[in-house]
Amino acid sequence: MIPEKQALIYEGKAKQVYSTTNPDDVIIRYKDDATAFNGIKKSTIANKGLINNEITSLIFEYLAHKGIVTHLIQRLDEREQLCKKVHIIKVEVIIRNVIAGSMAKRLGLKEGMIPPNRIYEMCYKNDEYQDPLINEDHAVAMGIANYEELDRIKKAALKINQYLYEFMDNIGIILVDLKLEFGKDRFGNILLADEISPDTCRFWDKSTQKKLDKDRFRRDLGNIEEAYEEIRDRIKQALRDTTW
Ligand code: 5GP
Repeated sequence: MIPEKQALIYEGKAKQVYSTTNPDDVIIRYKDDATAFNGIKKSTIANKGLINNEITSLIFEYLAHKGIVTHLIQRLDEREQLCKKVHIIKVEVIIRNVIAGSMAKRLGLKEGMIPPNRIYEMCYKNDEYQDPLINEDHAVAMGIANYEELDRIKKAALKINQYLYEFMDNIGIILVDLKLEFGKDRFGNILLADEISPDTCRFWDKSTQKKLDKDRFRRDLGNIEEAYEEIRDRIKQALRDTTW
């Protein structure tokens, strides 16, 4: 039975979280609001909430089939998902397959460079300090998580990246990088939370290198909604052809 939506308990830049009649579940509502550069650039992108809800739901279901534990219970409608209630671990985990964005800028590297390895980064999820890059020792020192939990997060993140890289590669998309967030439920399980969408990943078309992600918003490249729809439609088509 689907629990009923109750009070708004948290509002972030792109989503709202509501309590439900089941204390272990929440309803997440995807908004059309878009922000970049830690909230300095603000706008709305038509239908972004609907598209990101659909993309995230499809990807999380795909990952669940691959054995990844996620917070998603089910997509409820165009804007909402029913999810397990978790305490968000205050790190943003980034995995890079191709050099772009802040890593290119910070280290003076050319965007598009393909490194011989996968690059794993952690940022402290805190807008006031602009999500600074941290390492495991910092995270433990700040009480964000312990070493064993951080190890579990890293292993899960690298697996998720691998599954998603291969999946996107098959539909002609390069997964340049992605940002993941994890949460802990009341039993101590660590679950993949938040979203995986063009807001949180860089997706480049394999043949044209066209950016099909939030960089279109950040860099004023136009046709944002179309790019997000393109990602959704390719994922949907691929999953339609999948037999589990
Ligand atoms: P970068 O560090 O290059 O800015 O971002 C690396 C990847 O993580 C990109 O795919 C970017 O979209 C995602 N990312 C990093 N920080 C954030 C954030 O605060 N919010 C969102 N939505 N995505 C982020």
